[in-house]
Amino acid sequence: MNGKHKNGVHNHKNNDKMNMEEMGDEHVASSYETPLREDAFEVSDDTKIKLIEERFREIMEIMGLDLSDDSLNGTPHRVAKMYIKEIFSGLNPANKPAPTLFENVYKYNEMLVEKDITFFSNCEHHFVPIYGKAHVAYISSGKVIGLSKINRIVQYFSRRPQVQERLTIQIGKELEKMLDTGSVAVVMDAAHMCVSSRGIQDTNSTTVTSYYSGKFQEEATRNEFLKYIGMNK
Ligand SMILES: [Zn+2]
Repeated sequence: MNGKHKNGVHNHKNNDKMNMEEMGDEHVASSYETPLREDAFEVSDDTKIKLIEERFREIMEIMGLDLSDDSLNGTPHRVAKMYIKEIFSGLNPANKPAPTLFENVYKYNEMLVEKDITFFSNCEHHFVPIYGKAHVAYISSGKVIGLSKINRIVQYFSRRPQVQERLTIQIGKELEKMLDTGSVAVVMDAAHMCVSSRGIQDTNSTTVTSYYSGKFQEEATRNEFLKYIGMNK
């Protein structure tokens, strides 16, 4: 969300209730973006950590935990720091990995695949982990990217409260932009703790989501990619 609202129909105090109707035409294409408040980064990380720490202490106290216990005393600060500096650090565009591209004319039109990228995210509905493997491919426009950079892009978007479908699209769109190509494939295969540890407690199921653009929408190219990642049944 870039914070521009064409018609001014949208009340700033209700940012968290924003939906597609309220966003107007210019936002239709950004429905895959994480819903963020306009003032999301007006407060420093240190202040956020302090505020979350206070709130989390209250949550623990409401549950009846004795915060004077040595083992629990540092938990509110640890959780707050983990939220801002680690598992939700991908909310802040300042933490986005800078692209380091290099030209490689010999790779023009070639499919590059990186498979089995481990990722850890959190479900935005329950704030419990989603974790699994991501498989990424692109058809090079002559620009190529270091493999570790693809890894870092996957991690960056994972470090947000997420739904797996949106996470998959965000990675795909970012790679298209970064690599200047219209042909990207992303497959994510993940376990959801909110399914395995609560609710229906299904410990075996995983969820597969995919994003295919350009040449990957053609069956032959897509099958070649699925063969590389061992998912062409
Ligand atoms: Zn959930």
